[in-house]
This record gives sequence, structure tokens and C-alpha cells, in this order.
Amino acid sequence: MPSSNLNGKHFEVVIIGAGMAGLASGIRLGLAGKESIILERHNASGGLNSFYSIDGHKYDVGLHALTNYVEKGTKGTPLTKLLRQLRIPYEALDLSPQVQSRIHFPSCELVFKNEFSHLESQVAEQFPNEIDGFRKLVETIRTLDAFNLGNQFISARATIRSYFKNPLLESMLLCPTMYYGSSTEEDMDFGQFAILFRSLFFEGFARPLNGVRTIIKALQDKYRSLGGIRKMRCGVDSIVSENNSVRHLILDDGAIITADKIISTAGIVETMRMCNNSSPEVEDNIGRLSFTETITLFEDQPKALGWEDTIIFFNTNDAFHYKSPDDDLVDPRSGVICLPNNYAYPNGQNLEHGILRITALAHTEDWFKLDPEQYKIKKEFWFNHLQSVALKILPNQSKSPHTLPSKIIAQDMFTPKTVHRFTGHINGAIYGSRDKVKGGETHLDNLFIAGTDQGFLGIIGAMLSGISMTNLHCLKD
Ligand SMILES: Cc1cc2nc3c(=O)[nH]c(=O)nc-3n(C[C@H](O)[C@H](O)[C@H](O)COP(=O)(O)OP(=O)(O)OC[C@H]3O[C@@H](n4cnc5c(N)ncnc54)[C@H](O)[C@@H]3O)c2cc1C
Repeated sequence: MPSSNLNGKHFEVVIIGAGMAGLASGIRLGLAGKESIILERHNASGGLNSFYSIDGHKYDVGLHALTNYVEKGTKGTPLTKLLRQLRIPYEALDLSPQVQSRIHFPSCELVFKNEFSHLESQVAEQFPNEIDGFRKLVETIRTLDAFNLGNQFISARATIRSYFKNPLLESMLLCPTMYYGSSTEEDMDFGQFAILFRSLFFEGFARPLNGVRTIIKALQDKYRSLGGIRKMRCGVDSIVSENNSVRHLILDDGAIITADKIISTAGIVETMRMCNNSSPEVEDNIGRLSFTETITLFEDQPKALGWEDTIIFFNTNDAFHYKSPDDDLVDPRSGVICLPNNYAYPNGQNLEHGILRITALAHTEDWFKLDPEQYKIKKEFWFNHLQSVALKILPNQSKSPHTLPSKIIAQDMFTPKTVHRFTGHINGAIYGSRDKVKGGETHLDNLFIAGTDQGFLGIIGAMLSGISMTNLHCLKD
């Protein structure tokens, strides 16, 4: 007997997944007076960008930084446009801007802030022979029609290289952009690079004091106020088709429901598996990039330890490699250090404890092969290893280069296995499949893809994807 009470029900639109894309899609439908239901397999909304508590300590997954930050009312920018499309007031996100961030390579550092001129002056200072090329590249990025859904893949590496003589600057610009949104190894699409470059450097970083909860609450409240229904612990097991259309959906509890249209944010390969329509070509598109992340809560504020940056994108060699590690569980050569305390929160407020998060590339398959004991041992090993890498990059007043110079209150770590468990993404692939479905269409005429695998990545990107795919496929008429 199905426990969801949905058996036999019909909806105008069913949305699979209550992540950023699914919630944004539901709001657009609600604003247009359409009846929708969001089905989520997990017990919390947010998907890749969620939160949890252990022993009374709150942790965010995702959200180092909300990209695309602009001040209220800045016209023509993605954040302003998306808030207008969702009819959510700017204040609801409670955003505070970053202090400053850094791209750290052994022989060079570039500091950047939410004002683009800061990065430009850093490039002029560190790479005086490249500043003209940099300005030309910036102009190309500024004028590119990067959101055109018909754009073909153009190599970002080759394009950037054509502007510079020094490969170091190419690597330094690719490191943050690839970490914040490349689903492909070693290179990325130039259009995607341009979208990320704008969102990181032309616009900037911000964070709500209460983290990702604030963003999820704003979306959930809006969806609920429009009459939208959200069913948690209610996964879609399979999608049954007839004559090139979805006939019905079978839920995990066996309930059968029907819908005029279905928007899936679960991923393209994951959705094809639900349709029983996988093939070697489809499976070949499974994402190969995942991360592991350490999270440490400690007694002091980072500033008291001399740690002033918000985000540090680091690389310990001058050449930058962005790929699934060849021969180990983690590639500690590069990564991202995030200090969520280092945002300019209002009225001197801050997080109760210092927080240090270290993200690095992780093997997408080998973490799944470990038995529980080995998994625990390897997690502990890599936690300590990544922490000592980060302590070499952060200003470190400690006598021991391996010891955090503050009393540790709690710590945790996630791996690709954790990502898979809580989001269903095969291999725990953070940025989903390699080849995106830019138009959102599938082999079935009423089933559409939105979110990570449609191609707009990150928190803002996923919401924009939910909005644009819903506008295009459900609201055009
Ligand atoms: C560690 C980490 C750090 C990040 N940092 C940042 C950052 O600082 N800034 C930034 O902009 N982005 C960041 N991101 C990326 C960002 O979180 C994602 O790009 C974005 O949240 C993707 O949203 P989505 O809705 O497309 O997909 P998802 O969040 O994956 O949502 C899909 C949802 O579908 C559900 N689902 C799957 N299968 C089924 C099924 N069969 N039935 C029902 N439900 C199903 C899943 O449980 C999930 O909730 C980070 C991600 C991670 C993991």
C-alpha cells in the first residue's frame, strides 16, 4: 500500500528534486497559476546545497559563496533578474559581501574583491606584460552571448592561451572557474568559462549569516505561499512512457501518478535510468568529477589567527590539473579553502565558531569500493593530509605545521559517497554529466531536464536553469 497518498493523482507539472533548480521551477509555475508538485527523495530540501547537524553543530554542504553578488537594484545582472523572476525581495537572501579572496600559486598570488578593478590592478602588477591581453580577454568575456542555448563547445584553454604569452596566468584564471563549475576534466567550454568569470570576478561573492538555510527558506516559503506542494522522502523510481510521451511515474512507495509535464533535476543519466532508456553512450556521459571536503569548527575567529581571506583557490604547482585523481583517493595538489567567517556581516555579527572548509578533487569510483573500516581510516588520513596542505598556505603561527592553531570543537568530512547518498548523483559527481542538455529536451516530448545537467551550474546557475527551462517548456503559451 503506497504511503505517500499520491496514488492515482494527476498534476499539471511534476518536478523531480527539491534542489535549487526544482524549487525555482516550482515558484515560476506557482506564479503562473499552474499546479505543481515537487518530489524529493531525501528528507531535506537543497540537494547539493543543503545543511545538516551533528551533536548540535550546524554544517553547510555547498555554499562556500553565493556567486553573482551585486548590490540591490544593479540592473541587467543574473541575481537581479532571477529575484525578479521569482518575485523574491533582495533582502530575503540576507547577503553579506566577501572581504577578499585569493588565487594562490607557488610563484604568484592574485587577490580579488567584489570590485573587478582590484583583480585588474593585481594582474597589471604581477603580469605587466600580459595586462593588454587580459583587458582584451575581459572585453571578449563581457560581450560574449554566453547564455545562447545553441552554442557549441569551444576550448577555454585554447581561447585564453591566444591572449597570453605566460601560461601561468591561464592556469591562475582556470583554477577558480573550473573549481566553481566545470564538469569536464582539464578544459572547459569557453562560454561556461565566461559565465563563471563574470559571476566570480565582474560580480562577486556573498553569504547569508545563517548560511544556505536562509536561501532555501526564502525559496520554500515562496513556493508554499503560491500553493505549491512539496513531498519529502518521496522519490521517483521510474518513468513509464508510451508513444514518445511519459504515461505515468512510479514512486519509490509504489504509488502511480500522472502529469502533463515533468521537469527532472536529478541529472540526465539518472533520468534516463529512471526511463529505462540508458545505453553505453548515455552511461559514457556520467560525470567524473567529484570533491571531498573537510569541515572544522574551532574556537577562535579566523581573523584572530591572521586568516583574513574569504576563499583561497590554491594550486601547489604552477601547472594546474583539474581531473579525477589517477592513482589515489584525493588529489591534494589543488583545492579551495573557505572561511565562512570572513564575510562583512552587519553590526559586527559573526558565526559562533571559526570554520575552515577544505575542498579537493576526489576519485569518483574508488571511495565507493572501500569497506566501512577502510573508509573510516582513509577519511581520517585525508582529513589530516588536506589540513596540513591548507596550513602551509594559510598564514600559520603554530609551532607545528600540522596542528590547527586553535582549539578544535568539531570536525566532519564528506566524500563522493556522501554526495551520492544525499543527492543520488551517480559517482557523487558534483557538476553532473560531461555533456549538458542545453535545450532541456529529452527523447520524450513531455519530459525535460533542468538544473546541473542542463548546464547552468552553481546555486545561481541552477536557479536560472529551473526558471528558464520552466519558462521555455511549461509557460511559453
Ligand atoms: C561541496 C560543494 C560546494 C559547493 N559550493 C558552491 C558555492 O560555493 N557556490 C555555488 O554557487 N555553488 C556551489 N556548489 C554547487 C551547487 O550547490 C549546485 O550547483 C546546485 O545546488 C545544483 O542544484 P540542482 O538543483 O541543479 O541539483 P541538486 O542540488 O543535485 O538537486 C537535485 C535533487 O533531486 C533529488 N533527486 C534525485 N533523484 C531523485 C529521484 N529519483 N526522486 C526524487 N528526488 C530525486 C536529489 O535528492 C536532490 O535534492 C557546491 C556544491 C558542493 C557539493
